[in-house]
Amino acid sequence: MQIAYTVKEVREQVKAWRKEGLSVGLVPTMGYLHEGHASLIKKAVEDNDRVVTSIFVNPTQFAPTEDLEAYPRDMEKDSKLCETLGVDLIFHPEPEEMYAPDFCTWVDMDVLSKTLCGKSRPIHFRGVCTVVSKLFHIVTPDRAYFGQKDAQQLAIIRRMVRDLNMDIEIVGCPIVREEDGLAKSSRNTYLNEEERKAALILSQSIFLGQKMVQEGETDAAKIKAAMVEKIQSEPLARIDYVEIVDGLSMQPVDTVQSPTLAAIAVYIGKTRLIDNFIV
Ligand code: AMP
Repeated sequence: MQIAYTVKEVREQVKAWRKEGLSVGLVPTMGYLHEGHASLIKKAVEDNDRVVTSIFVNPTQFAPTEDLEAYPRDMEKDSKLCETLGVDLIFHPEPEEMYAPDFCTWVDMDVLSKTLCGKSRPIHFRGVCTVVSKLFHIVTPDRAYFGQKDAQQLAIIRRMVRDLNMDIEIVGCPIVREEDGLAKSSRNTYLNEEERKAALILSQSIFLGQKMVQEGETDAAKIKAAMVEKIQSEPLARIDYVEIVDGLSMQPVDTVQSPTLAAIAVYIGKTRLIDNFIV
């Protein structure tokens, strides 16, 4: 397995693979890898001749008040896991490699990026769309892999690829959870023991909403109210949002019908966690 720090190195390697007629899959990540990331990498290894994983904590998707500096990093552990999983190349650039000092070109999106996480984090998806576009141009993958855990991000990337005619297949992968239900996340490491227990309220509220839908409830307001009430029963939890939206446009709906996304963001102490289910 190769670790590349520059765009040039990645381009040279991908060019060599292309000459051999090999297909390439890309798994973009911010590192501190867990089984959620591993599930994307495994799928990419299954589907493609060669797999590139990017490990880059992208500064442009963090607001100045957010956790860019504190975001957990462990390149040694990540490299070992990638090697075990069969990754061929890790792209691990420094921010300076990705952003020139006078960088000023952005990929941004209307509508889909204005609700849910986009409402609480106004510059987030501009940073995500920009860095993912850059990675797509650098790696030129046949396929790229994203988790349903970040459902709005997945919908936005799909839309970006369609709107900008990028010739890349976007593969969505299901949410990987801890045994007790908590969705795996690099940010779970911020939680102390008490908060870790309290964080279960997210998946419990998701499972409650899911059950109501399975039992035939279609009134979005009723489902939302039950999920809010559940989360509010946990004293350490503070709701950022609980929303039921159309799965493509990310706009609120009154009635649940396929594809509908129920998404939540909840602070447990200072840690903001997200979870969702899709109908
Ligand atoms: P991140 O490193 O948090 O930017 O995540 C990189 C990719 O892994 C994104 O496409 C995420 O949606 C995906 N991912 C993160 N956590 C999970 C999880 N628990 N299950 C499935 N995919 C995940």
